[in-house]
Amino acid sequence: MKYVIVTGGVLSGLGKGITASSIGVLLKSAGLRLTSIKIDPYLNCDAGTMSPFEHGEVFVLDDGGEVDLDLGNYERFLDVALTRENNITTGKVYGNVIEKERRGDYLGKTVQVVPHITNEIQDWIERVANVCSDGSGEIADVCVIELGGTVGDIESAPFVEALRQFQFRVGKENVCFVHVSLVPVMGPVGEQKTKPTQHTVKELRGLGIIPDILVCRSEKPLEEETRAKLAAFCHVAEDAVVSAHDVSNLYQIPISLYEQSVLRKVSDQLGFTVPNSMPLLEDWRVMADKVDNLEKEVRIAMVGKYTGLSDSYLSVIKALQHSAFSVNRKLEIDWIESTELDPTEDSENHDDAWKIVKAADGILVPGGFGIRGIEGKIAAAHYARTNNVPYLGVCLGLQIATIEFCRNVLGLEGANSTEFDENTPNPAVVFMPEISKTHMGGTMRLGTKPTPFLVDDCKIRRLYGGADHVDERHRHRYEVNPELIEQIEAAGLVYVGKDETGQRCEIMELEGHPYYVGTQYHPEFKSRPNRPSPPFLGLLMAAVGQKI
Ligand code: GLN
Repeated sequence: MKYVIVTGGVLSGLGKGITASSIGVLLKSAGLRLTSIKIDPYLNCDAGTMSPFEHGEVFVLDDGGEVDLDLGNYERFLDVALTRENNITTGKVYGNVIEKERRGDYLGKTVQVVPHITNEIQDWIERVANVCSDGSGEIADVCVIELGGTVGDIESAPFVEALRQFQFRVGKENVCFVHVSLVPVMGPVGEQKTKPTQHTVKELRGLGIIPDILVCRSEKPLEEETRAKLAAFCHVAEDAVVSAHDVSNLYQIPISLYEQSVLRKVSDQLGFTVPNSMPLLEDWRVMADKVDNLEKEVRIAMVGKYTGLSDSYLSVIKALQHSAFSVNRKLEIDWIESTELDPTEDSENHDDAWKIVKAADGILVPGGFGIRGIEGKIAAAHYARTNNVPYLGVCLGLQIATIEFCRNVLGLEGANSTEFDENTPNPAVVFMPEISKTHMGGTMRLGTKPTPFLVDDCKIRRLYGGADHVDERHRHRYEVNPELIEQIEAAGLVYVGKDETGQRCEIMELEGHPYYVGTQYHPEFKSRPNRPSPPFLGLLMAAVGQKI
């Protein structure tokens, strides 16, 4: 097993995850099998209890693991399916060690960060690296590991120490260290400054890790002079100083790294041969150029809660993008703060927000929790339903459409979800009986569950290629009230897919509408650049007027 270990310095948010997954794309193009691990040095056991508005979206895996959004980037870029074990957090590592201590596994020893925590981390990495993640049944050739946070933080120290030791455990010839840093531009002549990078590399080397490759984030390509200076001061070869400058779209990053010989550098370090022809990389090049050349737009109004962090809905954005490429359109997302659509709320942006919604080609209500903005989302669903505007509701979006239908078609006054109104006279959406009311972490209905189709033909089934069932990922506590299903379906909103018991509504589709679809699961998590998620593709096809 070979390891590529990606660390970062100077500041967070430099795109370590994208760098790591792009290197993964190059390795995969060279014919290697890949897996990956993301290390998050926080005390939470998983990302499930963390606010997406602070930390970015919570990504959900097949096994129900609630993890950092970087695992989503790996799954999309490398086309793998990871497990909760592929995300290591401080909380998980300490949890394991403390459990072992209580069991008496340490035989009277004093349990310490070094060696017990650091060994636990290394054991974990080795264990996970040796599990197949691409469905081939074979274990990977290379494991790409990304260490979250910034080198030098108190939080990441045990992990840096574990990774330092790890190079001796598995042999230096099997490890390639990549450090991602920042090269800012300062002064009237726009000089590229190398000092922050010099400092972070010094810090890393002080901790016993010498980077083999230095990836420098900068606005413009690194100048030759900057590159030479970084090589000289940071103890890396000149051709191992890589420029990670801004590019026109994300898919250009693997190409840019390839053109700077990153693949050759990694292959020299890890001892594998790079084939002459790499069709996968060619596919990426074609995709990257296609994305650059899309001209005609398609506008989707995303009606949600916003705080300016678009990472909160990362996978939804990706699924929309994949689908837009597929219908040859450039995606424009109009972010609509749902409270602004609320007829009862006194918002000065009310009219403008509605103007944007009405100008959109399609409406999407993504997943969400909590009461804020609910009435605005219901109003958006109402507008889409009654004006034949393509609509996709994801998780909460399905529940919203159901509430709207109960209120305005069935005439069930005050219909609501018990999540937002415990005393509603007409509970259209209710708490699932098996869900814990006392513990928040990991207690939702989570992960991949099968949904059999219950009708022979409908738009959404056609989009899934006529399959008899779908396997998609869930993350919710509430469901459509089973007692109302018959009544709702009789009025034309049909739950065309339910869970295996036939009780739990999973996919809804409105009869006689161009595209009014909702899914209780989150289809966005399984979307891929060349394989857009079917419900999203349907929304985009309907939005550009294609027949489904
Ligand atoms: N809040 C809703 C529930 O828990 C929807 C969750 C979601 O959209 N992920 O069922």
